[in-house]
Amino acid sequence: MIKSGLIGERLGHSMSPAIHKKFYKTAGIKGSYELFETPVGGLSALLDDLEKNGYTGLNVTIPYKTEVMQYLNEISAEASEIGAVNTILFKNGKRYGYNTDYYGLEMLLSTNRIDVQDKRVVILGTGGAAKCAYKLTADFGAGERVVVSRNPQKADMKLCAIGYDKLDELDLIDVLINTTPAGMSPNVDVCTVSDSVIQKSAQVVDLIYNPMQTLLLRKAESFGIKTANGLLMLVAQAIKAQEIWTSREYSQAIYTDVFDYVRSMMKQHKDNIVLIGMPGSGKSSIGMQLASNLNMGFVDTDSLIEEDYGSIVKIFEQKGESVFRDYERKAAQIAANRSNVVISTGGGIILDERNMAELSRIGTIVFIDRPLNKLLEDIEICGRPLLSDGKSALVKLHEQRDGLYRKYADIIAVNSADINSCIANIINKLEESKHENTRN
Ligand code: NAP
Repeated sequence: MIKSGLIGERLGHSMSPAIHKKFYKTAGIKGSYELFETPVGGLSALLDDLEKNGYTGLNVTIPYKTEVMQYLNEISAEASEIGAVNTILFKNGKRYGYNTDYYGLEMLLSTNRIDVQDKRVVILGTGGAAKCAYKLTADFGAGERVVVSRNPQKADMKLCAIGYDKLDELDLIDVLINTTPAGMSPNVDVCTVSDSVIQKSAQVVDLIYNPMQTLLLRKAESFGIKTANGLLMLVAQAIKAQEIWTSREYSQAIYTDVFDYVRSMMKQHKDNIVLIGMPGSGKSSIGMQLASNLNMGFVDTDSLIEEDYGSIVKIFEQKGESVFRDYERKAAQIAANRSNVVISTGGGIILDERNMAELSRIGTIVFIDRPLNKLLEDIEICGRPLLSDGKSALVKLHEQRDGLYRKYADIIAVNSADINSCIANIINKLEESKHENTRN
C-alpha cells in the first residue's frame, strides 16, 4: 500500500488527489493520496508526524518547496540546483527530496516537439517554476536563456533577469515560456507581454493549466503560433513522483490514460450553463425555467448591469454602446464567478471574445437558436436600443451575430415551438455530452 499526499498552505482546488487516484486505478496499485494543509511554521512537525505514520512519500507545494529542503537527508542534483523540492520519499528512516516538475516540463517540451537546442528561450517569471525551466533548457542545450522579471534588481542574481520593457529589444524569440501565475483562473484577463512580443515568438508555452487556454495562448494561436499548456507537465510530474515512491517506471500508455482522464475532467468541471442567442430568442424565460428544472441558480447579465448602472435604454442613450459593452464585460466576469447557475446573457455578449473565453471555461455554452422568421414575428422592438430602426435592424444583427453564436456554442438548441420542448432538448443534449466526456 502506497500512502501519499500533498503538503501546502492552501490546497482547496488541488487536482492532485484526482490525478493520483486515477493513477492508482490505472496502474492497478493500492494507494491513497490525501491533502495536508498546514500553516506557515507547521511544516517540520507535520513531516515528523507523517513519517511516523508510515507514509511512503509526499508532494510539496507553495509555499514550502524551498523551506522543506532543510528537513531532508538527501536532495537530488536537479532539485538542489533548482532550489526547490516538490517530492519527498521516506525510506529506511531517511528523507529524500526530488523535483519532478523538472521531468514534467521535459515531457511537456518533448511531447510537443519543442526543441530548445541552440535556441533563444525567454522565461517569464523568476520563481520555482522559472528556475526549473532555466535548468532544464540549459541541460537541453539552449543557446541563450533570457529570464524576465517585474523587478529584475530583486530577482535571484544567478538568473540575470531583465525587465519586461527590455523584451522589445529582442528581434526574435524561439521559445517563450510563461512561468508566472499571470492569466491563471480567476484572473484570466491578464497577459504580461505585448502582442508584438508574442508575434516574434516561434513557440509559446504556458505552464498554467487552469484555464487550459490562457489569454497568452489564445493570442499566440490567433497569430498562428504553436502553443502548449501546462496540463501534461502537471500529470507527468505526478506520475514521476509515483515512479520514485514505487521504485518502478510506468509505460507511456499509463501517462496517456491519466492525462486523457484529467483533460476530460477539466472539461466536465463546468457546472454552469450559459445561454447565448439573439435578443428575443427566449434566453431569459428558458433560463429561469431550466434553472428551476435542474435545481440551479439563475443569473441574467442584463439584470446585473441594471442593478449596478440603471436602465440599459438610458445607458445606451446617455453613455453609448461602448460604455454598455464595458458594463457587460464586468457583468460577464461577475457571472463567471458563480457556481451551479444558469446564466442568461445579453445578445451582444459574444462580441467580446474575452467574455466567451471566460464563460466557456466555467460553463457549457448553449445557443438558443430561434429562427429569424420567429424572431421577426414576435419581438418587442420597444426597450431594445439596438433595434430602434425597426425589424430591418434585427435582420442585420442576425446576419452579424449568427455565425458567432454557432462558433461559441457547445450545444445548439432550436427554439421554434414551445419553450418546454426547447428545455427538454437542452437537458437531453447536456446528458449526452456528459456521457461523451465520461467515455473519453
Ligand atoms: P512562484 O515561485 O510564486 O513564482 C512565480 C513568479 O512569477 C514570481 O517569482 C514572479 O516573478 C512572477 N509573478 C508572480 N505574480 C505575477 C504577476 N501577477 N504578474 C507577473 N508576474 C508574476 O510560483 P511557481 O511555483 O514558480 O509557479 C508559477 C506558475 O507556474 C503557477 O501558475 C503554477 O501553477 C505554474 N506551475 C505549473 C506546473 C505544472 O505542472 N503545469 C508546475 C509548477 C508551476 P517576478 O516577481 O520576478 O516578476
